[in-house]
Amino acid sequence: MKILVINAGSSSLKYQLIDMETEQVMAKGLCERIGIDGHLKHTPLVGGKPVFNEDLPLPTHSEAIAAVIDKLTSAEYGVVASMSEIDAVGHRVVHGGEKFASSVKIDDAVMAALEECTPFAPLHNPANITGINACKAVMGDVPMVAVFDTAFHQTMPGKAYMYALPYEYYQNDGIRRYGFHGTSHRYVSSRCAELMGKPIEELKLISCHMGNGSSICAIDHGKCVDTSMGFTPLVGLPMGTRCGDLDAGVIQFLMNKYGYSIDEMLNILNKKSGVLGVSGVSSDFRDLDAAAEKGNDRARLALDMFHYWVAKVAGSYVAAMNGVDAIIYTAGVGENSAETRAAISSYFGYLGVEIDSEANSKRGEDIMISTPDSKVKVFVIPTNEELVIARDTRDIVA
Ligand code: ADP
Repeated sequence: MKILVINAGSSSLKYQLIDMETEQVMAKGLCERIGIDGHLKHTPLVGGKPVFNEDLPLPTHSEAIAAVIDKLTSAEYGVVASMSEIDAVGHRVVHGGEKFASSVKIDDAVMAALEECTPFAPLHNPANITGINACKAVMGDVPMVAVFDTAFHQTMPGKAYMYALPYEYYQNDGIRRYGFHGTSHRYVSSRCAELMGKPIEELKLISCHMGNGSSICAIDHGKCVDTSMGFTPLVGLPMGTRCGDLDAGVIQFLMNKYGYSIDEMLNILNKKSGVLGVSGVSSDFRDLDAAAEKGNDRARLALDMFHYWVAKVAGSYVAAMNGVDAIIYTAGVGENSAETRAAISSYFGYLGVEIDSEANSKRGEDIMISTPDSKVKVFVIPTNEELVIARDTRDIVA
């Protein structure tokens, strides 16, 4: 069985074609600047075919999907003979609200429910829906599955997902913590249980997804019980450009003082804050590491804040679960920055965490970076959201 995994953004579309017999990625790629001009980078990973990396007109997502299918099946760049070899499509969907606690086969009722969830993710869900419709237009009856970023977090208890606002805003409007990065937290936590050789139902895990966007998740006996992102992905940790937790009074103060509209204010909180805002240097942790090393105090402060927040939120989840067996680092920063992992782990002395600095210096593999004697184990597990989407799609269409 071969499954095409699609992650559609408003002007971009990422894809992977995965052979489920071996779980090997046969080809992957990225359409960019959809609706502006258009560019496709297509990388075949089997059969020794060349990479295609060129501008081409992509006025809508339909042309993008058509270009992807064309490359996947072409003599020069292709990895399959025809579209009929693609058995199913798995779509990443950002927000499933309270309607979806797991992945689902897409039909008309699901499409209607996705539309209903759109007010919760006004930038992301429309792009995901456009991607699904474009796929339908180009691929006809090929079965399709939606895999939600929010679904894994639907097991949170009310005490974790409720905001202390008048209850009717939850009841009437769905205002609550939803959480994001669920597919990633789900993948790394189940992989961690495998690496520990124990059923996930016997473990208390904390997963730290640290990329451009970052979130932490408490996974108690295989179920998410709390996570740091909320109604939107803006809150929790300070991130690349997002502010993380913030007193709402600050918003009122700044809007009054500078006459910002709410859109201008949210643009500042989403795009100009986080480690970029504090450092004034960059949202990229590599740039921050370099600047801090050269003595830039604000870059140092931004990094210190990030480490502190991860440790603080993780510590609150130790309290929430009354213990923890393992802590997992994943995503761009978590997988690549040994300095970040060491700095965060240095807060976990009270848990009996000891880091093996040689293991911590390795990259690109699932690895335990704590010493054999460490009371709480620490792992680096490269995330693989596409594989989870492909596996769910296989299981649902089978
Ligand atoms: P996204 O949230 O966009 O999926 P990623 O998970 O790809 O992001 O993470 C991107 C982040 O990973 C960037 O901030 C980048 O600086 C960081 N990163 C990548 N490699 C390193 C590295 N070697 N050291 C520190 N940070 C890194």
